[in-house]
Amino acid sequence: MYDTIIIGAGPAGMTAALYAARSNLKVALLDRGIYGGQMNNTAEIENYPGYDQISGPELAENMFAPLAKFGVDFLYGQVIRVETEDEIKRVVTEDGVLEAHTLVLAMGAQHRLLGVPGEDTYNSRGVSYCAVCDGAFFRGQDLLVVGGGDSAVEEALYLTQFANTVTIVHRRDELRAQKVIQERAFANEKIRFIWDSVVEEIKGDDIKVQEVLIKNVKTEEVTAHAFGGVFIYVGLDPMTDVVADLGITDEQGWIVTDEQMLTSQSGIFAVGDIRQKQLRQITTAVGDGAIAGQQVYHYVTEHVN
Ligand code: FAD
Ligand code: NAP
Repeated sequence: MYDTIIIGAGPAGMTAALYAARSNLKVALLDRGIYGGQMNNTAEIENYPGYDQISGPELAENMFAPLAKFGVDFLYGQVIRVETEDEIKRVVTEDGVLEAHTLVLAMGAQHRLLGVPGEDTYNSRGVSYCAVCDGAFFRGQDLLVVGGGDSAVEEALYLTQFANTVTIVHRRDELRAQKVIQERAFANEKIRFIWDSVVEEIKGDDIKVQEVLIKNVKTEEVTAHAFGGVFIYVGLDPMTDVVADLGITDEQGWIVTDEQMLTSQSGIFAVGDIRQKQLRQITTAVGDGAIAGQQVYHYVTEHVN
């Protein structure tokens, strides 16, 4: 029986684990993959205080390093269900069942699909959701990036080191990305823009992507463009399937908490990108994690003999 099981070892979960373990609680940190979460998909982080610039995987290593010292059990497991019975919380994984007095839900978010013909067919054959993972395979090619947020523009900039050109197609005529990132993209000679436009279809041969049909949403005109790769960054969906039955999510699936990170279920907290919140960043994820780690301590002190 753990005092708390933290599901998800991104920055939010790792920070919750640190704070709970430093309070001498018995802590399990569970992930279906390596620790670090979405940070593993970004090459350069420039807005985490204390670092001018650091790679995502390196920041993940730094966050993970102290957890063993404080006795956190880092466990591998794909969670498939969460159950509550009286005061006991059960986490059902593919390998078995774990029990705890409290839960911290830190499963984050995952990239959204575009939902156009060809996206699935050419997934990993020219269609990608991770420039850091796949960018180097596209040396010298003309690439398309879909989306206008921080991810799309930042990853377009990253791709310019490999690509011949990088075209950003955005459904409006104004980017959503932070101004500092926008300005870098506007100043980069390799980056072009197609405004007010959406991808209609991704086409290719037997091997990989060759062409993308793009529709101007104002004129309705559809044009064909040659691209060797398509990187899709059209937002995030919450990873809340495993807690869908608990009644703690809003209509879009984001978990609703109070300022103490407590959900509507006693002893169940949620932190990081998975929450209904305004700003999904590493800084806000670790802030959430710190609060939840401390609140878990208070909960266990008050509720557990
Ligand atoms: P996540 O990082 O999403 O981690 C969630 C973890 O939960 C994952 O490890 C996942 O494997 C695990 N998990 C999910 N479901 C299950 C399950 N059922 N069972 C077991 N484990 C599960 N933010 C910045 O501040 N600066 C940046 O420069 C920046 N760049 C970014 C670039 C890209 C390309 C992306 C995609 C995001 C970027 N972000 C950046 C956002 C930042 O990475 C996220 O806000 C942050 O990682 C959220 O942390 P989290 O711990 O809430 O969730
Ligand atoms: P996002 O901010 O939600 O942006 C998604 C973009 O995709 C928007 O421009 C949106 O257009 C567009 N879009 C959505 N659905 C579309 C569709 N069906 N077809 C075409 N375009 C579509 O998502 P994100 O960029 O992945 O960022 C997610 C979170 O991570 C944000 O909180 C972000 O700040 C954070 N992040 C931060 C950094 C950083 O700090 N450096 C880097 C990356 C990510 P509209 O603009 O018209 O809505």
